[in-house]
Amino acid sequence: MSIDTIIGLIALVALFAAEGFLPAYAGREQRLRHGAENLALAAMSAAVAAVAAPLLVLSVEYAAARDLGLCHALGLGWPACAALTFVLFDLWMYAWHRANHQVPFLWRFHRVHHTDPAMDSTTALRFHPGEILLSTLANCLVLMALGMSLGMLVLYKTVMVLVILFHHSNLDVPARLDARLRRIIVPPSMHRVHHSAVRAETDSNYGTVFSLWDRLFRSFRLRDDPEAIRFGIGAYDEAAWQRPLRLLRLPLEPNQSRTATGADGPVGAQS
Ligand SMILES: [Zn+2]
Ligand SMILES: [Zn+2]
Repeated sequence: MSIDTIIGLIALVALFAAEGFLPAYAGREQRLRHGAENLALAAMSAAVAAVAAPLLVLSVEYAAARDLGLCHALGLGWPACAALTFVLFDLWMYAWHRANHQVPFLWRFHRVHHTDPAMDSTTALRFHPGEILLSTLANCLVLMALGMSLGMLVLYKTVMVLVILFHHSNLDVPARLDARLRRIIVPPSMHRVHHSAVRAETDSNYGTVFSLWDRLFRSFRLRDDPEAIRFGIGAYDEAAWQRPLRLLRLPLEPNQSRTATGADGPVGAQS
């Protein structure tokens, strides 16, 4: 088991326990059942990720053996290369996430993440195995283009898993702390808006680690009344659709009209 997986599992257990004591949205029912369903899907995705992982290693080794990638082209030493590839890989994650919302074929898979009618730390791991496979294949090309090392990839994934567990969590983070964190990373206040059933809000806050990209590319959005956010996409959020084997079939279902839930307020309000 890789170090990012071990750290992620420890953080998941700690956050899941903390959500029981300090929930942002109180009164959650069937928290264990919700978590078990998300984690069952996550286990299937983890199996696909494990099978596909050697492709990532091969891509890094292929690029290193042939001096491919941005780091080599710019003649950077390891500290500059490490910092640049960390930041640019996060920019890539922003672009890939945005594409998952805007390309109908990719949305068929990514909407599995968004049909969770509740939101907590287990939502961070709720991805269709098809999305994991597609993102792994795309990541191979990006790793070669950047000339990113395996060590930096593992470091990025470790930071990423901690940040995404945190920003999906149902933890009652004090508003001032959240606002301070928001200057650098994507905190719960941003990602809860991303899970809203209102389309203009779903199609905002695509950032994974750094909040910078949403500010830069004008997709940053906050709500004054986060307690009123309704999670989901307005379809496929019934209890029957939460069963892991049914979620596997969701990409085969028609893409619902995503204009019905309407939109409101300007995208890009900064805070
Ligand atoms: Zn999304
Ligand atoms: Zn999410």
